[in-house]
Order: sequence, then C-alpha cells, then structure tokens
Amino acid sequence: AKDSGKNNYQFYTNQLHGLSSRKMELENGLRKALEQNQLALHYQPQIHLETGEIIGVEALVRWIHPEKGIISPAEFISLAEETGLIVPLGKWVLENAAFQNKAWQEKGYSPIPMSVNISVRQLQEDRFIDSVKQVLSDTQLSPKFLDFEITESVMQNSEKTALILGQLKELGITLAIDDFGTGYSSLSLLKHFPIDKIKIDKSFVDDIIHHSNQGAMVKTIIDMGHNLQFDVIAEGVEEQEQVSFLLKNGCKVGQGYHFSRPLPVKEMEELLHKNMRH
Ligand code: C2E
Ligand code: CA
Ligand code: CA
Ligand code: CA
Repeated sequence: AKDSGKNNYQFYTNQLHGLSSRKMELENGLRKALEQNQLALHYQPQIHLETGEIIGVEALVRWIHPEKGIISPAEFISLAEETGLIVPLGKWVLENAAFQNKAWQEKGYSPIPMSVNISVRQLQEDRFIDSVKQVLSDTQLSPKFLDFEITESVMQNSEKTALILGQLKELGITLAIDDFGTGYSSLSLLKHFPIDKIKIDKSFVDDIIHHSNQGAMVKTIIDMGHNLQFDVIAEGVEEQEQVSFLLKNGCKVGQGYHFSRPLPVKEMEELLHKNMRH
C-alpha cells in the first residue's frame, strides 16, 4: 500500500510537471502569436430561422500556428485567461472584429451586428471601457453593430459587473449571455443586468434530438427568456429537426453547422453577398 502511494505521488508530480511545462510553452507561443500577428478571426452567421437571412455574425478567434496549423480557441482561451494574456488578445479580437464589420458595411453588405466574445477578466480590467470607446472611434463603427457575448460567471462579481455592463449599454452596444443554462445564475438575477439576449447553450440544443424529454429544457428557457423580454438565440444547431422544434417553440434565431461552420473572411463574404439578394 505504501509503495503504491509513492507511485501515485510520483505519477501525480510528473503529471503536474508535464502540464506546467506544456502550459509554459503554450503561454510563450501565445505571446509570440500576439506579437507576430498569428491570430485570425473566423466568422459564423446567425440565421433568422423563418427567412434564412443572416442577421448577425459571431467572430471566433483562431491561432494560425506556423507549424501546427490552425489551433482552436478551446485550447488557449482558458490559459489566456489564467495568464492575463486575454486582455491584449481580447483587445486584438475586438479591434479586428469591429474593423471587419465596418469594412463589410463599406462594401455595401446589409449592415448586421458582429458578436464578440468577452471574457470576464477582460471585462473587469480597468481600461476596458476606454479601449471599447477607442475602438468605436478608430473604426467609426456604430455601436449598435456590436454585440458582446459574456458568460453567466460575470454575475458573480455583481456590483462591478453591473456598472460596466451599464456603461456598455449606454454606449449602445448590445449584450448577450453566452452558453446560457450551463452557468450558475438565475433568471431573476439576470433581470438586474442590462442584458438584451440569451444564447441557449449547445448542450440543451443537442437534447432536442438526443434525449427522450424532447427539449423540455429548451422550451422552458425560450419561454422564460421571452417572459423577461430577452431575445433568444440557439447555438449549435446541426439538424433540421432542431430548427423545426425551435420555430415551433418561438425561438427565431439560430447558429450552427446546419447553416454554416465558422468561416474565414473570404468565404464569409460570399455568404454575405448572397444575403444581399434576400
Ligand atoms: P462559444 O462562444 O460557445 O462559440 C461556439 C463554439 O461552438 C465555436 O467553437 C463554434 O465553432 C462551435 N460551434 C458552432 N456551431 C456548432 C455546431 O453546430 N456544432 C458544433 N459541434 N460546434 C459548433 P470555437 O470557435 O472553437 O470556440 C470555442 C470557444 O472559445 C467559444 O465558445 C468561446 O467561448 C471561446 N472563444 C472563441 N473566440 C473567442 C474570443 O475572441 N474571445 C474569447 N474570450 N473567447 C473566445
Ligand atoms: Ca460565443
Ligand atoms: Ca456560446
Ligand atoms: Ca457553448
């Protein structure tokens, strides 16, 4: 028993060590990526389920690694949050998303809001509001074409958050709760924040097809969201069956592979071009 205890301990420390050096490598790499412009945005359309029209676009960051190719944000966002790199990274994303949206408007595509993911740590950073104002003035993008997606976890530091969200709202930016239903918040708490929209998490949208309760949870979220005057959008829509269910239950906007994967800018522009003829 003693021996196996020792082995476990060694296994554990080795694992810890392996993890931390891998992390350090990733952290250094990410720093370099920021300096050397190895980041890119991909864009995923948000679709009006009745008309098929593109009514919004979400910007999703990618790391274009010189050797490893495209690295998903799932692999580096949480590390960026831990190390604070999310602040410059998030700023890069916001600037580029806003510039791109303005450029699309100048090309004559129908103006639509761009959704940008904002981490809690980024939101609560002292200069956040100033940097948002700076981006708006640099790009000359109207704030109504910016939508910030934040997760329920921001509700935890509620006083400070409410203040910041209020300032964003005042600027004219819309606010969405991302991954709704997965975090620790009640709808009654949400009422105290100036939220415009909730985004039903993919895990619930999955349930529409895969579970026997046939999306009871999704229906409940849609109804509660609407009762509180929020817009409701479903993420991770992969099947026509989900579209039908969502429409039947009053959710009119969806995003997911059923419509399009996140696309590089050129391919997104082709979709926006078709969208003009609606
Ligand atoms: P998210 O905000 O929930 O974004 C949705 C994720 O689901 C995206 O993954 C998207 O590609 C994927 N997705 C969309 N539709 C479908 C579908 O129908 N099926 C499946 N299986 N997946 C779908 P992605 O791009 O890998 O991003 C992962 C997460 O990384 C995002 O989740 C978001 O939390 C974070 N993230 C991405 N870009 C940024 C950013 O610029 N800033 C911050 N703070 N976080 C970001
Ligand atoms: Ca999101
Ligand atoms: Ca989401
Ligand atoms: Ca999600």
